[in-house]
Amino acid sequence: MGNHGDAKDHASELKDIFSLKRIADAKYSYEDSDYVIFGVPFDNTSSYRRGSKYAPDSIRSAYVNLESFEFSYRFDLLRARISDLGDMEESEDVEYVVDQVERVTKMIFRDGKIPIMLGGEHSITVGAVRNLPEDVHMVIVDAHSDFRDSYMGNKLNHACVTKRALEILGPNRITSIGTRSVSLEEYQDPDFDKVEFVPSFSVREYGIDRFINDIERKPGRVYISIDMDGIDPAYAPAVGTPEPFGLTDYEARRLVERLSYKAIGMDINEFSPLYDNGNTSMLAGKLIQIFIASREKYRIEHI
Ligand code: MN
Ligand code: MN
Repeated sequence: MGNHGDAKDHASELKDIFSLKRIADAKYSYEDSDYVIFGVPFDNTSSYRRGSKYAPDSIRSAYVNLESFEFSYRFDLLRARISDLGDMEESEDVEYVVDQVERVTKMIFRDGKIPIMLGGEHSITVGAVRNLPEDVHMVIVDAHSDFRDSYMGNKLNHACVTKRALEILGPNRITSIGTRSVSLEEYQDPDFDKVEFVPSFSVREYGIDRFINDIERKPGRVYISIDMDGIDPAYAPAVGTPEPFGLTDYEARRLVERLSYKAIGMDINEFSPLYDNGNTSMLAGKLIQIFIASREKYRIEHI
């Protein structure tokens, strides 16, 4: 069981659309925080297994059982200035939800803070991508290329996220790691090569560090979007569309901890608690801790 200390006031100018939930290590008000967690309980475009709308609650519940002291970094997360805005109001309208995510992340970036968004399904990420500055490279962990132009009549379907992100960011600004599910239609899209898709099989063959090095060499910052199905179902069984032969939990961790220092934000999505045995929620919670602890450790050592 974790010991997470006392909480401070929950204040923010977005109170109108957020509930009063809080992840255990979030002890700061929005104004005083460096990291801003918020949940987006939305899974309306999911094509197979629903339930990712319950993920923010499930991650917060699991997180209570993690120690605030991150042993591998010898870092106490209570020293990090974390706030939690709670969950965004629910809506079935994907365009509305993506617009709200755009509004919230715009404010968080404007205020020089780091958003950590808990999905929900992957479609919500598009709202954050709309606010990414020119110098930011997008790093996706995903089993799927998410490169459909439209799916089930919807261009904001979660199967279209990378395609939408490419339209917003332009070529050579996205690396998607863990790819192993691509439709022929997606593969034959003339824009497919404008995103660097790193198959999970290449990670297996060459090691994750080679691909992290490629990203690290790029100038500027990164935004990290983790679709939990990029990780192997053995480690993250509870996802909307599971796909075998994925990344290990260590590889996902490695990516997060090596890139966090240059990250302007992160999201974790596609986790569906309805199919969980408790592993996926805990892994999601732990990846949040690793992101913050590794980033803070770097910051402290480079002051
Ligand atoms: Mn995805
Ligand atoms: Mn996926």
